[in-house]
Amino acid sequence: MQLTSHGAALEVTGSQHLLEVNGKKLLLDCGLFQGHRKEAHEKNSWFGFDPKEIDAVVLSHAHIDHSGNIPTLIKHGFNGVVYCTEATESLCDVMLLDSAYIQESDAEYMSRKHSDTALEPIEPLYNTEDAEFALKSFKGYEYNKTFEVIKGVNVTFREAGHVLGAAIVVLDIHDEEDGKDKRLVFSGDLGRYRLPIIRDPFVVDHADYLLCESTYGNRTHDPAEEGMPALARVINRTIKRGGKLIIPAFALERSQELLYSLHVLIHEKKIPDNLPIYLDSPLANRVTDIFRQHVELYDEEIKKDFKSHNPFTMRQLKQVASVDESKKLNHFIGPCIIISASGMCEAGRIRHHLKNNLEDPKNSVVIVGYMAENTLGRRIVQGDKAVKIFDKLYNIKAEVVILESFSAHADMTDLDNYVKGIKGLKKVMLVHGEEDQSKPFAKRIEAMTDAKATIMTPQVTIDL
Ligand SMILES: [Zn+2]
Repeated sequence: MQLTSHGAALEVTGSQHLLEVNGKKLLLDCGLFQGHRKEAHEKNSWFGFDPKEIDAVVLSHAHIDHSGNIPTLIKHGFNGVVYCTEATESLCDVMLLDSAYIQESDAEYMSRKHSDTALEPIEPLYNTEDAEFALKSFKGYEYNKTFEVIKGVNVTFREAGHVLGAAIVVLDIHDEEDGKDKRLVFSGDLGRYRLPIIRDPFVVDHADYLLCESTYGNRTHDPAEEGMPALARVINRTIKRGGKLIIPAFALERSQELLYSLHVLIHEKKIPDNLPIYLDSPLANRVTDIFRQHVELYDEEIKKDFKSHNPFTMRQLKQVASVDESKKLNHFIGPCIIISASGMCEAGRIRHHLKNNLEDPKNSVVIVGYMAENTLGRRIVQGDKAVKIFDKLYNIKAEVVILESFSAHADMTDLDNYVKGIKGLKKVMLVHGEEDQSKPFAKRIEAMTDAKATIMTPQVTIDL
């Protein structure tokens, strides 16, 4: 059997890994590459394989960098089933339509810019109709049920503890070529222990091969418990200055976890209870509705907690729907919290809030998630003095606070423990990490286990 990474090799977005076994082709994830608009459009329009030849897709979770290129795959001829968990299926219903909307608006914006030149108008990568059509191919399964996806390959989804519905994909394979039974585990994005709302990652007890993410392969996060006090401190500081807090957040999971944390802080009287909290992202609002429907995926403690006080219905929370309501926030006077998407600040309403608030030193920008290279979010995190938004330069005078303890990704200690927990590993293939993170992780794996560690390179096939 062979494995080739066609995305998220030596980088963190565009997850796509092709498994070839028993004369069949199985694609693990089909994510969008995110970065410079032009580069992203080119990379996402092209596959390193023929989509018509793919027999099935298995999707680890609903984040767009893992699921967002499925409509393009279908446009280019894939006509099999996309297997995922039930919650991922519900989430993709809203995530892919939102992504289509972003593709359409981006193409329109680029075409407008081209209208004064001889350049051709830009076609969206896919449109709403393509996304709606793609959603018909999805088939959701419960966690912990085993089913066949292609000849000789049985899949079981286990909880990844990363976002609602996220799975560690366990593939039990009978390889006809050498007659052997093999277990390949695809980590998807591995979560952290003790994250609020969802359950902790499931530990797979044995496997032959592990295809593992390495986003934070060489970094440790502050403990998850430190997130809330740090958040309270920046909120109170900003209130004192009379400023606003702008929080870019992934619509899926991070926004809901933030609401949960804010709710706890209000309940424990660590922050004032009269501070308006705006969730200004139509997508985050729809995802929050899906969270309300999947109570069975919450951990036990939260289930009890939510019975007495529910963060999704707290009176301080205002869910902003229309563009007009969002624009009104520009004129809001006094402290407030605005949570908005996209998480890496490359699209969506967050760009408007940053543009309107970055230049005022009273305000704070609170970073709670991963920012990939070449994104607006990364430029803010790395301390740029000014950033370009909608072709205009804005000086960053607001306080920028990075709260890594809110990360939904395993850090190096979590990753080490995860690898050590799987017995019998022969080979670990690292993906979904920039080289400064995956290289030291590979070295540590070889030092602490008998497995060989390989960093996957784009389009290079390895034999398993
Ligand atoms: Zn993810």
